[in-house]
Amino acid sequence: MAEADTKKMIDGNALVSMCLSRAGTDRMFGVVGIPVTSLANRAVALGVRFIAFHNEQSAGYATSAYGYLTGRPGVLLTVSGPGCVHGLAGLSNASANAWPMVLISGSSDQSLAGRGDFQELDQVAAVKPFAKFSAKATDITEIPKSVFSVVDWAVAGRPGGTYLDLPTDVLHQTVEESEAEILIAEALNSRDKSLIENPRIDNSKIDKAVELLRSAQRPLIVFGKGAAYAKSEIELTKLVESTGIPFLPTPMGKGLISDKHELAATAARSLAIGKCDVALIVGARLNWLLHFGQPPKWSKDVKFIIVDVCEEEIELRKPFLGILGDAKEVLGLIHKQIKDDPFCLGKTHPWIEAVRNKARDNVAKMEVQLSKVVVPFNFLTPMKIIRDAILGVGSPAPVVVSEGANTMDVGRSVLVQTEPRTRLDAGTWGTMGVGLGYCIAAAVASPDRLVVAVEGDSGFGFSAMEVETLVRYQLPVVVIVFNNGGVYGGDRRNPEEITGPYKDDPAPTSFVPGAAYHILIEAFGGKGYLAGTPDELRSALAESFSARKPAVINVTIDPYAGAESGRMQHMN
Ligand code: ADP
Repeated sequence: MAEADTKKMIDGNALVSMCLSRAGTDRMFGVVGIPVTSLANRAVALGVRFIAFHNEQSAGYATSAYGYLTGRPGVLLTVSGPGCVHGLAGLSNASANAWPMVLISGSSDQSLAGRGDFQELDQVAAVKPFAKFSAKATDITEIPKSVFSVVDWAVAGRPGGTYLDLPTDVLHQTVEESEAEILIAEALNSRDKSLIENPRIDNSKIDKAVELLRSAQRPLIVFGKGAAYAKSEIELTKLVESTGIPFLPTPMGKGLISDKHELAATAARSLAIGKCDVALIVGARLNWLLHFGQPPKWSKDVKFIIVDVCEEEIELRKPFLGILGDAKEVLGLIHKQIKDDPFCLGKTHPWIEAVRNKARDNVAKMEVQLSKVVVPFNFLTPMKIIRDAILGVGSPAPVVVSEGANTMDVGRSVLVQTEPRTRLDAGTWGTMGVGLGYCIAAAVASPDRLVVAVEGDSGFGFSAMEVETLVRYQLPVVVIVFNNGGVYGGDRRNPEEITGPYKDDPAPTSFVPGAAYHILIEAFGGKGYLAGTPDELRSALAESFSARKPAVINVTIDPYAGAESGRMQHMN
């Protein structure tokens, strides 16, 4: 047989899949079509699990959360033009939240550029505001280097979104398999190792941080989703417990140390941030979620110690002390240093007593509200029932996905997080519509955990069709929809706002009243429940939690129970 007949040729689609697999990608999300269907099939054949969605937006949100939950970049695959544009929702969300993600889009044939090819778009230009690094493989030989660089850049420094552009002609080009192996080996060898290394920590700053914490009268440790991403829970717990310093998690930091811990200042948030004199901020930005670190919420004299992997973040906030480094490593060093010359505030320290008493009072006040059974449901009555059902699951604790204005606000104060990375919500950008995507990511990333979404009907509606995806992959996800018939609920307009030729249209905030969201999932073979009373809700939760199968619980909420814009009415 002639030598040429024995040579195995592979195309660009196969080569991309091989490289992704070598880069450690084991899950992909996306919507297939021209020219990337074969890429998805090839990836699956190499052992990658490909989760096929209905919409790239939702698939993109899933990809972003997958990167956060696993610490490895999620990969989103889309078609060219509109597919890539839909994927930008996920890419921008990843960058805004500092989560690693790679968007891979097919693009039109290079020889036809500028002539109106099928789904043609300058995609590298389109992704620019949202991607910290982009690569375009203009020839099949460039594929290995491009794939490894987008994967490495996604996790480098502050994690974020990267983009890989794959023109149709490149996906169809072929090379011999043996040459492909050589290209892969060369690309692996020339990988920039500095991208995946953590910054070196300045030990003199560790000394200073320890001195500041030691001499503080009212210290506080605040941690966020950067600390969660760094998997720093063991070091954080050791630091908190050895020093007796109270802690405050940001919404997604919740669970790194259990909300039930006696040093949790969550229920005394205003007092803790308003009165602390030294605040160690770990993997959290002093942005709107933390009131920019400014008065009146914070004391004007507070000394911030910021631990962050991103130098620009430290420069931006100008803290008293900035420590550049990975949260887990920095916390480990601080704890080690304190262990050599320990200090502990103790239960009778006035600051600890003040925080504890305030937290106890606030929890007691909340429990009084929660103990009232209000039907038709307000937000608190069903939230308490859901809280108890989630806590009843024990360990491994469910991942809670939360979005919506009132539903998320109430959920943040009522739901209890006991384990790390078990809360996903609208995040830094307040992104609505993330719910179903986040549920799918969580179920894929943590197959041993139940996933429970507690979301408003508006948030659910953004991607409700993905309930079919839940059923198709038989994911253990229970979606609880707080159905108050609209964005914020019923029509709240002033009479003078109801005028003009379209005054009889439904209000911009209104949906069809009593929408049967539970029936939607039944169209695909999932389980739906309608719950308007505590007994109905308890029974639906008990059955769906033990079944661990896709379910939607449609909870009827009084349309006037919530407030417009939740707790952010001042921003309207
Ligand atoms: P939150 O919303 O919980 O307040 P943010 O997303 O605002 O959290 O902030 C997370 C911060 O964590 C970002 O500034 C990011 O640069 C930082 N970060 C990401 N990874 C790490 C890490 N491994 N160690 C320390 N900081 C990190």
